[in-house]
Amino acid sequence: MLGRHVNTGRRTILDELKEHGQLPSPRGAALHVLQLCQKDDVTNQEVAHAIQADPALSARLIKLANAPVSHQVRPIVSVTDAVTVLGLNTVRQIVLGISLIDSSRQLSCKNFNYDNFWSHSLLRAVAAQSLVINTCAGVIPPEEAFVLGLLGQVGILAMAASYPDEYSEVIDKKKLLADVGLNDLERQKFGFDHNQLSREMFADWRMPAVFQSVILHFEDPSTATYTEGGRDWCLLHMLHVADFFAKMCLAENSARSKMMSKLVFKATRLGIESGFLIELGDRAVADWADWGRMFNIRVSKMPEMKALLDVAPLVPDPSDISHLPSTVGSAFKLRILLVDDDHAVLMVLKMLFDKAGHTVALAKNGKEALTLISSFMPQVILTDWMMPEMDGVEFCRALRRKPEWRNIYVFILTAQESTDRLVEAFEAGANDYMTKPLNTKILGARLGAAQRVVQLQEELEHDREQLRKFSRELAESNKRFQQLALTDDLTGLPNRRSANEHLARLWAVAERNHTPLSCLMIDIDHFKHVNDSFGHKAGDHALREVAKILQLSIRKQDIACRLGGEEFLVLCPDLPMDVMGRYAERLRSSVADHLIEMSAGKQIKLTISIGAASKMPGLSTSEMFLQQADKRLYQAKSKGRNLTVIE
Ligand code: GH3
Ligand code: MG
Ligand code: MG
Repeated sequence: MLGRHVNTGRRTILDELKEHGQLPSPRGAALHVLQLCQKDDVTNQEVAHAIQADPALSARLIKLANAPVSHQVRPIVSVTDAVTVLGLNTVRQIVLGISLIDSSRQLSCKNFNYDNFWSHSLLRAVAAQSLVINTCAGVIPPEEAFVLGLLGQVGILAMAASYPDEYSEVIDKKKLLADVGLNDLERQKFGFDHNQLSREMFADWRMPAVFQSVILHFEDPSTATYTEGGRDWCLLHMLHVADFFAKMCLAENSARSKMMSKLVFKATRLGIESGFLIELGDRAVADWADWGRMFNIRVSKMPEMKALLDVAPLVPDPSDISHLPSTVGSAFKLRILLVDDDHAVLMVLKMLFDKAGHTVALAKNGKEALTLISSFMPQVILTDWMMPEMDGVEFCRALRRKPEWRNIYVFILTAQESTDRLVEAFEAGANDYMTKPLNTKILGARLGAAQRVVQLQEELEHDREQLRKFSRELAESNKRFQQLALTDDLTGLPNRRSANEHLARLWAVAERNHTPLSCLMIDIDHFKHVNDSFGHKAGDHALREVAKILQLSIRKQDIACRLGGEEFLVLCPDLPMDVMGRYAERLRSSVADHLIEMSAGKQIKLTISIGAASKMPGLSTSEMFLQQADKRLYQAKSKGRNLTVIE
């Protein structure tokens, strides 16, 4: 331990390192350029002139100015143009970075692998440049991202240059203790680590404040406290992804596939889908080879990203999600269906929702999602917009076609650029949208709003179901009451009220169709005797027996009713007058022939008197029709009973 401290008092560790005189520092043309850039009144011409003194530096600057990013349509071929396009500030940063590579070639630190260090830095630089163009556009100019990536670990270089022997020991130790962080070993030995030193060097070079902060935290973003999704957050994670990508490329073949899956998850947090990551990665590797040739730095051959992704196990490592919040909409547990063709997006979201206690199902496109809905019954769906087979908007439309899926709360996930097409998504039936990369705070807040809607809807649905159940019960009991009101208790036959209803209906049918209608008014003869001889209860039994005989003897379409007491009415639709007499006689004799079992083994026979009537022109109402039958019944009684009177 050398007992130095970063930033204690006025003297910094950097001051001490400078006194050592071993710091890698620009020389020659580069030094001249940097000195010129310190002057307030320097012109582009002067700077360009100074750069031209070094052909290698000129070529590298022109190459960077022509990076696919520059908004330049016309290729830049002169240093002057390059300086104009890039601006003095960026030129200064680039010259600094590039010159450091050259000036540090002759390090005396035994274990320090110069080639590896710059190879890694160069790849981090091209990856950062590519990422910043494609994902954090506008956060910083791509050329500055290149410099930020290139000098990301310049502290290591400074330590190796200033304390070659001690740093050699640190490197040795690191090889033995793979699990211990390089930073920890450095702090043990020197009292500070390379990230702190990088930051001081950045400050010394008057790099922007955000660079200084990002350089301190990018190796482990969880040490920073930036607002998620903000500019600094984006830059930090971009550099972290670029660095991890570089590490993966330089790692042993056997370690790569596991690192690839980690990379996919890290990129997902930045909103980079795996398909796009492959493209960015392949491009960065190609750029890397170009720059390597320019700087005479060895770069390794890389397999295609796609091949790496294909064998990468896409299951998140707990360490990748340990920093995710565990409260994303945890107030009310939901069934959430996630639909995205990007496996990494599905996994990250699933871990997030699992952690908050929700139940999650996954689908990789709209078609697959539709097959899951009936069994999983999601309350909330988060669906990507662009997917093969069936995209998010089509999926919404298909979903809303089913009335029973109307209440599912649907979020559509979209890239920032397509927000002006959102109307289409809402018209298709989406309830809300979120832009990628998802910000966990916003995700939580919006899911909370969805939960409230789902909860209210479910309460409403519960109330509705109660109401439906209640009205079903009411309808059933009404039907029962109605039946009771129309049925005679003793015999089970329709009662007088029901008889009137049947008559009114049959009368109307006969009127309309000019079809026959007959009726038989029936009264049991001397029934009083039955009661008198056997008692009222036995009388009831006899009444039931007669009702039974009548019910069995009539035709299927006829209706036998008990009007009250021992009086019955049989309504006979379509029974013409000429057959009515025979029909009535058949009924009468079936009663008369029947032996009724009474108590104590006694049997009796009962007879009935019948008055019959048929609908005919003279009888204009159903009342007259009944009166006619009643009159004839009376006649039958007076003629001696057990008789039928039909005219
Ligand atoms: P008729 O031949 O003139 O019809 O003589 P009847 O005795 O049958 O006629 P009446 O009208 O004088 O008597 C009817 C009897 O039927 C009187 C009543 O006690 C009895 N009755 C009426 N309703 C019921 C009942 O629900 N149960 C029993 N057990 N008897 C009843
Ligand atoms: Mg009677
Ligand atoms: Mg009577």
